[in-house]
Amino acid sequence: MTPNRRTLLHAGVSVTATLASATLAGQCGARDPRPPKILLSDDPESCAAAAQDFGHIVQKRPRAVCKPATHGEVADILRWTREQGLKVAARGQGHATYGRAMAEDGIVMDLGALAAIHRIESDRVVVDAGASWHSVLEATLAKGLAPPVLTNYLGLSVGGTLAVGGIGGSSSRHGLQTDQVLELDVVTGEGVELTCSPTAHAELFDAVRAGLAQCAIITRATLALMRAPKRVRRYLLSYPDLASLTADQRRALDAARFDQLQGAVVPDGAGGWRYQLEAGVFYDSSTPPDDKALLVGLSNKHETVSDLAFGDDANAFAKLEKLLRSNGQWFNPHPWLLTYLRGSNALEVASEVIAGLNADDLGPFGRITYYPIFTNECRTPLLRLPDERVVFPFNLIRIPASADKAHADQQLTRNRMLYDRIRAAGGMLYPVSALAMSSQDWADHFGPRWPLLREARRRHDPGGILTPGYDLF
Ligand SMILES: Cc1cc2nc3c(=O)[nH]c(=O)nc-3n(C[C@H](O)[C@H](O)[C@H](O)COP(=O)(O)OP(=O)(O)OC[C@H]3O[C@@H](n4cnc5c(N)ncnc54)[C@H](O)[C@@H]3O)c2cc1C
Repeated sequence: MTPNRRTLLHAGVSVTATLASATLAGQCGARDPRPPKILLSDDPESCAAAAQDFGHIVQKRPRAVCKPATHGEVADILRWTREQGLKVAARGQGHATYGRAMAEDGIVMDLGALAAIHRIESDRVVVDAGASWHSVLEATLAKGLAPPVLTNYLGLSVGGTLAVGGIGGSSSRHGLQTDQVLELDVVTGEGVELTCSPTAHAELFDAVRAGLAQCAIITRATLALMRAPKRVRRYLLSYPDLASLTADQRRALDAARFDQLQGAVVPDGAGGWRYQLEAGVFYDSSTPPDDKALLVGLSNKHETVSDLAFGDDANAFAKLEKLLRSNGQWFNPHPWLLTYLRGSNALEVASEVIAGLNADDLGPFGRITYYPIFTNECRTPLLRLPDERVVFPFNLIRIPASADKAHADQQLTRNRMLYDRIRAAGGMLYPVSALAMSSQDWADHFGPRWPLLREARRRHDPGGILTPGYDLF
């Protein structure tokens, strides 16, 4: 064992820490017993990058950053951090909004080098957890296949969305991304490498998906695939108010007319709001779907129809990303609040919340996403949704025009008030939100599922080293 690794970490330079071979050989059985070399970088640049995320609200500086390139290295690092009593957080693409992938004075494990696409079969793809959804889609589309659920933004890592859920335009049909996982390779907080699925270590499989990385780090995922459609016919329908938007969204949902169904309330630039339904229909033939037949019975005042290749449609957010990066707003604070409302009172609660908001609360490119999904395909135990057949994702996607810290702090305070109101109305948090949560808040959030997570944590991360950024335990 290297004599004093802590000293090395304090040295202020990139160091190579050689981990204890004897311990590793004992635990890993057949693995190569030679001591692995893992680069722990404590240079100011790496640590500063790991102390930030997309939220630009929380900053927590780690002691060092490491970039494992194999599952074995992930295990080595976890065993070593446990031995050292250091906290550790996996980092995928760093798009969390409230420091969830940070570890103050601990180790941030950047999974960017663990990003291979291993195997594509007709119904599944095997990928490393650091791969982005963009690269997964690119590889599978080349074979005419695609994941059934894609997030609106593809620059997120597979591990990052499986840790929280992963919702997208087709979630009514296929649930969340965590519902489309066939198998996971993970390393537990004890440094044990396991493969889990509905039939092997099922309790761990359930605790890892949407489990906020409290028990294990995902290293590899086997994800379901569907045949990719060639094209998407997109409909943007406008409404004068939230009530008429909601009514048509419910109509469209019940009639299952669209393959993708979403919607939003966006600032209209003149102090009011635009209410819009956003839907897509997949098709392969040279004849596009019949627009009139699809829109019959809907009460929209205006419609815009566009037609895109499936891959271009999936990547549509990239344009906005480019714009926000160029105008600097990508790097401003993002105090997002993401929730799920009960279908039975979504209109009432959303109307009340929106009445208290103005365009400044969202920023010129911000929006409130609001649309219904069926919950019957959402089966991930730790993904908390209101217990109704239809729920509404209701998300304040705040993209402020300035980096004003006082404004961001105000929004965080508002987030708490709004969350309390939404919870009181039977709504639930989507934990990617920028919101301080106490351990009790999390226990309340997970409700009847709290024992599942608590027990799995006790069993698989007894040292309590994993993912301190949520303040769960
Ligand atoms: C522009 C934008 C658009 C978004 N759109 C959507 C959307 O359409 N649908 C949706 O559901 N969400 C969306 N999100 C939220 C996003 O899914 C989550 O923030 C997600 O966790 C970010 O993934 P990441 O790779 O950037 O993770 P990071 O920010 O790096 O990590 C997030 C959390 O996941 C954990 N984690 C990362 N990798 C692993 C791993 N391999 N194993 C275990 N835990 C891990 C981290 O420790 C951390 O707790 C969006 C976010 C942004 C910024």
